[in-house]
Amino acid sequence: MLRCILVFILLFLSLSTQADSFINRLLNKPVPGGVAVIPLPEGPAPSVQYQGKPVLVISDSAGWLAIVGIPLSVQAGSQNISVTQGSQQQQLAFNVQPRTYKAQHITLKNQQQVSPNPENLKRIERELALQNQAYRQFDPRQPSNLLFDKPVDGPLSSPFGLRRFFNGEERNPHSGLDFAVPQGTPIKAPAAGRVTLIGDFFFNGKTVFVDHGQGLISMFCHLSRIDVQQGDELIRGAVVGQVGATGRATGPHLHWNISLNDARVDPSIFIGAFKP
Ligand SMILES: [Zn+2]
Repeated sequence: MLRCILVFILLFLSLSTQADSFINRLLNKPVPGGVAVIPLPEGPAPSVQYQGKPVLVISDSAGWLAIVGIPLSVQAGSQNISVTQGSQQQQLAFNVQPRTYKAQHITLKNQQQVSPNPENLKRIERELALQNQAYRQFDPRQPSNLLFDKPVDGPLSSPFGLRRFFNGEERNPHSGLDFAVPQGTPIKAPAAGRVTLIGDFFFNGKTVFVDHGQGLISMFCHLSRIDVQQGDELIRGAVVGQVGATGRATGPHLHWNISLNDARVDPSIFIGAFKP
């Protein structure tokens, strides 16, 4: 009898750990532009794909977990991941809940930054290809931490996902999170990682990509100065550069993107500042 009760208590404890695991509480925000934490079956190390792209898998007290980035363009409703364990392959469904994003109107004095000429369009296309390639990389190493440090200490300004109108014309939604901090503020790596791309781009200005592992990638842009080289291995907290207003920026601020399985997701999730 006592044995039975013990087994029951242990079972209950393990189930409640699964529902309340730290990673689940921190990261499970299954909305467009959010993250889904999906428990995976026990067994050999799983490899997971979502929309044909490899997905971050970790093991914590609750067992294997898939940490899936959900693109902003995904509609609320049912989505599938494909899970391979040994010779077994299966589809697992998860549900995406709706989230509404506000609109923002921005006036730019430089009309080239709203409707670039053909020469600038060529440059933009080239730079986009480079950056897309950096987002698609999948380094097998595990991220050093999933609760990220804020890259700068300052108030959040423009949130992720804002629908943006530049001089009245709708452009891509805001793919990252802005911090209102003065020019020259040092920007610190929120987790360890490798510098996979640096550049001075038409829209993003001076830009640094840091690959944290398994498709979890940070991008910092509009920098006044870059303090790292491509290929550098960074420890958590290493300075990557300084805040500026290069590229399409109306004033000094830090713009921070987080990408997971090539989906740009809300960075506020990773610093425990997500507001539904
Ligand atoms: Zn921004």
